[in-house]
Amino acid sequence: MDNSTDREKDRKEVTGSDNKDMSVTILGSGTCVPSLKRSSCSVLVETGNAKILIDCGSGTIRRLLECGTEIYDISHILLSHFHPDHTGELVSFLFANKYPDVSKRKIPLSIIGGRGLSNFYAGLKEVFGNWIDLMPCVLNIIELDTKKNDIRLEDAVLKYVPVEHNEESLAYKITGSKGCSVVYSGDTDFCDNLIKISCNADLLICESALPDELKVKGHLTPSAAGEIAAKAKVQKLLLTHFYPECDKVDIKAQCRITYSGELILAEDLMKIYLTTDNRSGLLP
Ligand SMILES: [Zn+2]
Ligand SMILES: [Zn+2]
Repeated sequence: MDNSTDREKDRKEVTGSDNKDMSVTILGSGTCVPSLKRSSCSVLVETGNAKILIDCGSGTIRRLLECGTEIYDISHILLSHFHPDHTGELVSFLFANKYPDVSKRKIPLSIIGGRGLSNFYAGLKEVFGNWIDLMPCVLNIIELDTKKNDIRLEDAVLKYVPVEHNEESLAYKITGSKGCSVVYSGDTDFCDNLIKISCNADLLICESALPDELKVKGHLTPSAAGEIAAKAKVQKLLLTHFYPECDKVDIKAQCRITYSGELILAEDLMKIYLTTDNRSGLLP
């Protein structure tokens, strides 16, 4: 058996083949700090027919290409909030959809976010005009109603709750058609809403911006993220949004103070499969 066949066999074993409901690819595990190793925030969630980008910080388009996904295939962009490390490449993403060939996008694109999204997009339009306007009926701007808490995305369900960072900040939970679920915290401080929405999730992608000893308001640390994951009884916790200070300390050890379950530290282009038999596979 040659190496490629071996790899294919391994892939089947870790993905759980037919039981796969969702895949999650970390596109950017970093922050606003320029880094070759860690792009700004972005995650790709693929479930059923939906290819959902969560956040769109700088480096997102390059990382998408590196994991074999075209911008034209993205059906939804969820914005956790409007800080530039989460939205900085949105303009480039929209502009790239117009050239060189507008017919390459065969599906509509929905941009979804919290309070103020329509104004945020209107502001970008004031600066960039038609350069970021897609063909009629292609682009939908969906400002979520905070009086409700869920909408459908193709076969998946999207739930959302406000979290403690900016006025518009939301955490998202995506549940696939087979019942697997992933929660994305966005940027937040310690927050009961995040515990509630993460309850029994298969995977919690949680920000852990700075080590315990450098805690700042509006962000979590490894032990705080671990406490949220433990209280929510998640299957797996994946820490992300690492400032460079995090790469100098033992993040896992800090998280282990509060959390004893499965723990993953994000790296760019890491891919995780969520399957109905509670097995997940991790590919480099
Ligand atoms: Zn932020
Ligand atoms: Zn951030």
